[in-house]
Amino acid sequence: MPTPSFSIPMLDLPGEYQCIKTDIDSAIARVIASGRFILGEEVISFERELSAYLGLAHTVGVASGTDALKLTLQALGVTPGDEVVMPTLNYISDGEVVAQLGAKPVFMDSGEDMNIDVAAVERALTAKTKAVIAVHFHGLPADVDKLADLLADKKIYLIEDCAQALGAKLSGNKVSTFGVAGCFSFFPSKNLGAYGDAGAVATDNVHLAEGLRLIRAHYQRSRYQSDAFGYNSRLDALQAAILRAKLPHLDDWNHRRQEAAKLYQAGLTDLTGKIGLPQVPAHKEHVYYQYAVTTPRRDELKAYLAERGMESQIHYPYPLHIMPAYSYLGYKAGDFPVAERLCKETLSLPLYPLIPRENVERVISTIHDFFK
Ligand SMILES: *Cc1c(COP(=O)(O)O)cnc(C)c1O
Repeated sequence: MPTPSFSIPMLDLPGEYQCIKTDIDSAIARVIASGRFILGEEVISFERELSAYLGLAHTVGVASGTDALKLTLQALGVTPGDEVVMPTLNYISDGEVVAQLGAKPVFMDSGEDMNIDVAAVERALTAKTKAVIAVHFHGLPADVDKLADLLADKKIYLIEDCAQALGAKLSGNKVSTFGVAGCFSFFPSKNLGAYGDAGAVATDNVHLAEGLRLIRAHYQRSRYQSDAFGYNSRLDALQAAILRAKLPHLDDWNHRRQEAAKLYQAGLTDLTGKIGLPQVPAHKEHVYYQYAVTTPRRDELKAYLAERGMESQIHYPYPLHIMPAYSYLGYKAGDFPVAERLCKETLSLPLYPLIPRENVERVISTIHDFFK
């Protein structure tokens, strides 16, 4: 939502809606007229279209990105006693779902690119490691090619958390195609956003897809009969119809995000030494769910921008390992110094597909004023 007190907001979902209003309105009207609101044809069509976009065989729509992760872990057989490795610089849901299944989250530091440190993962693997969750942070692909190689002959699953990175590529291949599954969130602010909560899992593994379809609807192989325990985690038809209307725009919107990021990059590069900018290696394509900079004066910079009508956000202020929920695991401040510093120094700047060029330019010149 644009925050009324900011003349330059982080994002502008009503503005985006105005651009595609005809398609969205007719999609919503179509679903309401059909009388079919949960799963059904609309969801099946969206699943097919997302599979085609990703080049994967199966997509299973679920209620949220959090559920995409949780149902995937459960379908892969994660149970108490198992360990699941993930970055501590992360959204809260990744650790939560592992703990809810009774398994143990094992946290890792990140590199300066804000993605999981592959060498640290290698050192952390044990006989109990069942899966590694790699998060493509802010839309920049993690080194899932290296992780896939590392895990290939070890019977450890690689799960890609693609919630921030739909459409991002590594050596020409889309994220979600390196691990056993890619988990997606369609939270409204994500690169492909629903008008409510929604998520999906994409995979080439037919057994995983079948398991997910059962788990998302109470594990009913036949109606009103549960073979095991699942959830009510179905994607609803209205969200699927909205996502279907938006998916054809995704590549163009990601391209526009990249263009805005280029403006920031060009406009801020002379501040090197004062401010850290995203560094994108040539074999990676970043889709800029967030354009984030780093500075030890992060909180001051945020306040300075806010006083001048410019919104900025902190994603995320705390790494998972020091959150109260995980105190039982015995981690402490100082265990993961890179992630801890990045949580204190990282600031996301306004960026969305239709951001006016002059907004980016005003933010750039205000950041220059701040460092003068
Ligand atoms: C948004 C997000 C999620 C959770 O998605 P929800 O749809 O909000 O449940 C999980 N992981 C990451 C990295 C995210 O950005």
